[in-house]
Amino acid sequence: MSGESQSGGGFRPGPILLDVTPFATGWEQDSRIDDGHAHAWERCLLIRTDGGGVDGVAVRWEPVVRCADCGCPRCGSSSDPDPCMERRHHDGLHITLHGRFEPVGGYLPPEAGEHPEQQT
Ligand SMILES: [Zn+2]
Ligand SMILES: [Zn+2]
Repeated sequence: MSGESQSGGGFRPGPILLDVTPFATGWEQDSRIDDGHAHAWERCLLIRTDGGGVDGVAVRWEPVVRCADCGCPRCGSSSDPDPCMERRHHDGLHITLHGRFEPVGGYLPPEAGEHPEQQT
C-alpha cells in the first residue's frame, strides 16, 4: 500500500531469533495456516549456538522466512530474488514474487515418498 520495497525478496524484516525454532510447532497441522489469512512473510535471522567441538561453541546463522501470524515457513528461500510466495508444502505450482508459475520439482507427494527404499 505505502510503496513497499520488493528489493528484499517480498518479505519485511523480522526479529533476530536466538536458539529458538522460527516456525510454529506442528505448523503443518495448524489449522490457522489455511484459514484464508494473507500470510505476513517476515525475514528472521536465526542464530544457533552449538556447544561442543574442539572450539567450544559454534555459532551458525541462517535467514529464514516465516509468517509473522501463524509461524508457517514460506516455500521460497530468503536468498532467492524471485521466491515462491506460497507456504511451504503448498499444493499446485509455485507462484513467485514476480508472478511466475513454476512446476514443483524435487518434492514427491507423500504416497510416493514415504518409502525411499525399494520394496518388492
Ligand atoms: Zn500465516
Ligand atoms: Zn512453492
